Amino acid sequence: MSSEQKVYYGKDINVTFNSEKCIHSGVCVKGFPSVFNLSKRPWVNPDAATAEELARHIDKCPSGALKYARLSDEHSTMQEV
Ligand code: SF4
Repeated sequence: MSSEQKVYYGKDINVTFNSEKCIHSGVCVKGFPSVFNLSKRPWVNPDAATAEELARHIDKCPSGALKYARLSDEHSTMQEV
């Protein structure tokens, strides 16, 4: 795993963010401010939404900087967390 990649652990879903891939489109923070909030630390709170909602939103990240691993089923966009 790259040193530029951070993992944010949730109860039902884990989220990874790769700062090298991010193109700063703002899709994440504008579309889901309860989860993605740059004024908070950590800036990603995976438990502020359902795993389903969050997974659907992360699928919209245009760069692939955000990925997730659902903990309750096999559907995941990353290999390891
Ligand atoms: S949606 Fe993806 S590319 Fe856009 S700011 Fe968020 S992490 Fe970066």
